[in-house]
Amino acid sequence: MADITIGDVERAVKTTATTVLRNEHYFSDLDGLAGDGDFGTSLATGFRVIDAELPGIDKSAIGAMLLKISMLVSKHVGGSSGPIWGTGFMKAAMVSKGKETVTLVELADMVNTAVEGIMARGGAQLGDKTLLDALIPVTEKLKAHAAAGTADLGLVLKECADEAENAIDATRGLVAHRGRASQVGDRSAGTPDPGIVAIATILQDWCTEFGVERTPTVPELLKQTV
Ligand SMILES: [Mg+2]
Repeated sequence: MADITIGDVERAVKTTATTVLRNEHYFSDLDGLAGDGDFGTSLATGFRVIDAELPGIDKSAIGAMLLKISMLVSKHVGGSSGPIWGTGFMKAAMVSKGKETVTLVELADMVNTAVEGIMARGGAQLGDKTLLDALIPVTEKLKAHAAAGTADLGLVLKECADEAENAIDATRGLVAHRGRASQVGDRSAGTPDPGIVAIATILQDWCTEFGVERTPTVPELLKQTV
């Protein structure tokens, strides 16, 4: 099985920035349905800096690159997303310290550690209608493939994108319990969580970037992916 290289991780980060910048207004519009409407702008403010600085960032190891990105996220992403997303990148950086490539098992460990860090930082659990409702099933799928020794990384990516997309429909009817959306109570039911849509959109765009064929089905993705 081919390992994941630092170049792959850089492409994934670059694609994430492209996704976030393309969807700045759409993600804020989604947030405005039940929250304060700042999510897209908060993310885009940080990822605009990352997009600009990525070529010059230390790429001696995956951990060094992700650590620098975590600092940029924490410093420049606004609202509650800065500490949440910054913690995720920082935890992934710690697990990939000094590594120029990672195996699928190591990638699963990076993502799992990032998600545990996000849970500890934000205090949210599965079912609270936050981005964790996408990240947790994605992580479980990743761990299952790592444990099974799946060699086809494209298949792994596709199935992780499936999990994230499924989370949009699975949580659409839930009332948010964390974050700003929780303050409007029942008004959040019937609207998708923008963090979940963002994770699903990023994974769909990673599929496109890495040549993995996958057709989205939910309206939020059909509208916004490339
Ligand atoms: Mg908001």
